[in-house]
Amino acid sequence: MTIARIKKMQERIGVEPDGFWGPISIAACRRHLEDMMPEPHPFPTQANVPVFYGRKGEEGGYTPPMGRVELPFPIFYDGQPVRVLRPHEKCAESLARVFIRLAEAFPDEASRREAGILTYNGLYNPRKMRNGSAWSMHSWAIAIDLDAGRNGNRTHWPAQAVMPLEVMECFAAEGWMAAGAFWGRDAMHFQATQPPRA
Ligand SMILES: [Zn+2]
Repeated sequence: MTIARIKKMQERIGVEPDGFWGPISIAACRRHLEDMMPEPHPFPTQANVPVFYGRKGEEGGYTPPMGRVELPFPIFYDGQPVRVLRPHEKCAESLARVFIRLAEAFPDEASRREAGILTYNGLYNPRKMRNGSAWSMHSWAIAIDLDAGRNGNRTHWPAQAVMPLEVMECFAAEGWMAAGAFWGRDAMHFQATQPPRA
């Protein structure tokens, strides 16, 4: 992200716009998003995901119960248009509302493209996390990746990654956690859990 965009974001979260994304900005950004989340929070902590959502999916085996989300605008997986998403049924209605919010916040194709929300990089994928032994939230179909090319798993947000805060806000308003803001990396990733405690 450019310094100018970081300054704008700092103004939006109510801290001194000095272009330096340090601990004060990180904490304020988390608070900004947490304050938008519904009360009580609709989703479990990451530790309680199996209790709330049930079994994770297994390759060639069990598949979690899926809901159906008709998108208000097509998104593109490997260049192919996608109009329906199949997340876990317990977060499907909320993901549908996230996309309605995105459609309102980014009202035309140019702004959607610029924000990166037209580039879809997957939802259900029963696998371990890239950096460890824990199961990825994608294994429950409760996480979605957008614009992976510009918001990599190890790419620092917001110094290098470009996922807009306004996209994170649309997810936060439905209780979804934006990894960029809460992990400082993997800004492509949004999941239907509570954010980690600071
Ligand atoms: Zn992801």
